[in-house]
Amino acid sequence: MPAWICATCGNHYPASGHPPASCTICSDERQWVPPSGQRWTTHDELAGEGGPGQRHSEFWDVEPGLTGIGVTPAVGIGQRALLVRTDQGNLLWDPPGFVDDEAIERVRHRGGLRAVTASHPHFYGAMADWARAFGADILVNEADAGWVTEPDPAIRTWSGRLEVLPGVTLVQCGGHFPGSAVVHWADGAGGAGALLTGDTIFVTPGEDRLTFIWSAPNRLPLSEPMIRGILDAVRPFPFDRIYGGWAPTIGSGARQLLEASAERYIQFLRGEAP
Ligand SMILES: [Zn+2]
Ligand SMILES: [Zn+2]
Repeated sequence: MPAWICATCGNHYPASGHPPASCTICSDERQWVPPSGQRWTTHDELAGEGGPGQRHSEFWDVEPGLTGIGVTPAVGIGQRALLVRTDQGNLLWDPPGFVDDEAIERVRHRGGLRAVTASHPHFYGAMADWARAFGADILVNEADAGWVTEPDPAIRTWSGRLEVLPGVTLVQCGGHFPGSAVVHWADGAGGAGALLTGDTIFVTPGEDRLTFIWSAPNRLPLSEPMIRGILDAVRPFPFDRIYGGWAPTIGSGARQLLEASAERYIQFLRGEAP
């Protein structure tokens, strides 16, 4: 029996003879179901698309201590993972819905995994596959535990803040989902500190501002209290750089840019802009 993977969001469901009637993630107001209807796939089908060995994982160095792990061609929403490496172990963040043996071997060569987690339920992806390969914990924010589509005994819930490894802290921000989180990585940006934000805080294509979304595909905004909640959650942490859920990155000056971007966004919400 195959484990089912939603083709639209890349989330995994337990193995069974028939796929679920719908994807709970994509049926929600923040996501979408194709006009032609829900579509399911499997790991083997994803692996074989375009011919044997076509879909594969890609690794690249982002900065010292940080590795990017993507999938080509992309799966589901298309996020790439970030592997935060410390001498106490590694954390995998926002894994895509597809993982191959080569990716697991390459992470093993980089010290394996202590834990795997995601910014929010859209990006849970192949968390359980990664956890099983390394005996790692799956960290899920308590507020979003109801969105888990692939139950696993390795799941541990957390709330508020959680220092997963020395200098690597999960910070609950809310907004896009109640449990939407970022990683604060103290050693990032040459020791100035970095945030890994998924789409809890969204880096724009021009890499010159940050924005906030309730739903990206459905173009629904966050409220002012939600945005202020995100700012309050991250302000105590030093950071100069922000890695979003895809390639765009704010290389420096991220703290000031976040404050300025939030103020501008709130002007629009209040009808004070443009
Ligand atoms: Zn889905
Ligand atoms: Zn999302």
